[in-house]
Amino acid sequence: MILGVDLGGHSFALGFVRDGTVLSLREFETPRSRTPEAVSAALKERIDDMGSGIKVHGIGIGVPGMLDFDREKVLRSPNFAGWEGLHLRSLLEKSLGIPVRMENDANCTALGEGAMGAARGLENFIVLTLGTGVGGGVVIGGNLVRGGHGMAGELGHIVIGGRRICGCQGSGHLETVAGADGIEARALELGLEPDLKQLWARRDDYRIRPLWDEVLEAIGSAVASLVHILDPDAVILGGGLGPAEDFVETLEPVVKRYLGEPYRTLLELRPAKLGKAAAVIGAASLFSPAGEE
Ligand SMILES: [Zn+2]
Repeated sequence: MILGVDLGGHSFALGFVRDGTVLSLREFETPRSRTPEAVSAALKERIDDMGSGIKVHGIGIGVPGMLDFDREKVLRSPNFAGWEGLHLRSLLEKSLGIPVRMENDANCTALGEGAMGAARGLENFIVLTLGTGVGGGVVIGGNLVRGGHGMAGELGHIVIGGRRICGCQGSGHLETVAGADGIEARALELGLEPDLKQLWARRDDYRIRPLWDEVLEAIGSAVASLVHILDPDAVILGGGLGPAEDFVETLEPVVKRYLGEPYRTLLELRPAKLGKAAAVIGAASLFSPAGEE
């Protein structure tokens, strides 16, 4: 059995995966200190609780943030301050006593949606996760695109213009406008209740519509650029917003307006299917395709 873990931030999710199916997905609060030692101890405790009597052959871990090319070290993690340069893979392997592999969490989501979800059967696809922040993963020719340094596919940091400073210190990135934190900050500026679900449900309200116009323009132009660069079979929209009612239908005309002619008729936008299970399935698949073992 392979264990998939999505390290998250406030909470972490873990589940045993067999043949690409999560047998038991559970979520736990991350220790408040968020030190590597505390997180590792919490993981160990939960794995022991959940897996008594189960032989775990490997643990795949999705880590929020940028990792080195060899997937040994954390280069930068917005949710885990002070982990820069940490040899997380070997640290966890030592403390858990089980082989560990790791990958960026949004890449894990892409692998999961590719194995069992909205991108199943596709060789070329992009997964954009619209959550607290904006993440992504790019699969081309059936392989995750990792780039020259291991940091490809940071789709939340696509430059859309403007001067808002991103959590990564760059300016004008997609995440500053289209991440839940960015949307809620903008809502406050406009004197609106910063509740994402309510804001989306009441999107036709004349006071709320300009906020969504701004968000949809940002996401739509970014998706169109991605389509022009990568010519994917499909673009999958995940996180809390992607699968929200009518989100894909509302975004589609915006993307098409930005797209060049031959691309418009081919555009395939889909909501993600697996929710939180995607990253856990994808993390487990680091040990074998779709976690078969
Ligand atoms: Zn950024």
